Amino acid sequence: MSAIPLLQATDIVKHFPVGGGLFAKARIVRAVDGVSFEIARGETLSLVGESGCGKSTVGRAVLRLVPLTSGQVLLDGQRIDDLSASALRPLRRRMQVVFQDPFSSLNPRMRVRDVLIEPMRNFGLHEGRWDARIAELLDLVRLPKDSAGRWPHEFSGGQRQRIGIARALAAEPDLIVCDEAVSALDVSVKAQVVNLLQDLQADLGLAMLFISHDLAIVEHMTHRIAVMYLGRIVEVAERRSLFAAPKHPYTEALLSAVPVPEPGAQRRRIILAGDVPSPVNPPSGCRFHTRCPYAFDRCRSEEPALRATAAGHLVACHLHEGPDPAKLLARAA
Ligand code: SF4
Repeated sequence: MSAIPLLQATDIVKHFPVGGGLFAKARIVRAVDGVSFEIARGETLSLVGESGCGKSTVGRAVLRLVPLTSGQVLLDGQRIDDLSASALRPLRRRMQVVFQDPFSSLNPRMRVRDVLIEPMRNFGLHEGRWDARIAELLDLVRLPKDSAGRWPHEFSGGQRQRIGIARALAAEPDLIVCDEAVSALDVSVKAQVVNLLQDLQADLGLAMLFISHDLAIVEHMTHRIAVMYLGRIVEVAERRSLFAAPKHPYTEALLSAVPVPEPGAQRRRIILAGDVPSPVNPPSGCRFHTRCPYAFDRCRSEEPALRATAAGHLVACHLHEGPDPAKLLARAA
């Protein structure tokens, strides 16, 4: 296995100007403000956080659907954020996306066969055996073979999302970005599609960036989790480590809403006060201090760095830096 991660995002920043005009200065939405992560081949990294935290913008920036304000993205060691459109074209095949809305992400005027042929034609794949490959793809996403001749409106939401997954697989990617790919589905259908993605990831050795607002969805299907708050990653850990011992107060609050499978068992529910602040004017110091139950003076003036508390477990919180977090916790109480 190569030691180079499949995907490396380093200190990526995406700011959007909004408003402005003849007499008014445009305001800047700091959607993503210095995010770094890596994804290994065959690994699923879930990016989790509330709506508006910047996680979908990270996915789009990685795919080069929006240009970066600054930072770098490397695919297989090759920098891609500064490539021209023509230089990027052959690499696009290797990174595919499954969007949230299965109803709008498929062209209603294309039969499923044509939906699946499009990426193969674009990337010069399986010339002369498209129908055989379509049968394989439909089989992979557990749809009947006669689906090829039907129109998107003839399918349910879950089935359309399977078509979207088959379309992504048709390009034979190394990485799939799933942007809230199951959020619009009913609970039982959601579980089926998550199981399908998990099986495909394992069978095909795909890497995945799975973007979700819901920690419960990723609990059984991800290798690592990165938690985002207001444009920043505040905690990264392997799934078991994060679920067993979350370190950041924001992760604790998100996790407290996830149901426990054992009958009768419950997590202590943590309800956060207030709303997510505006990314136009994020709070000083730790961005979470306006909602954090443990905030103390230093939190309001000094932004905590993301640092390791254990192997592979990184957290950005003043309570977890230095050798003795218990003393700091006592100081905050
Ligand atoms: Fe809370 Fe302070 Fe930690 Fe931020 S740095 S999460 S405000 S304790």
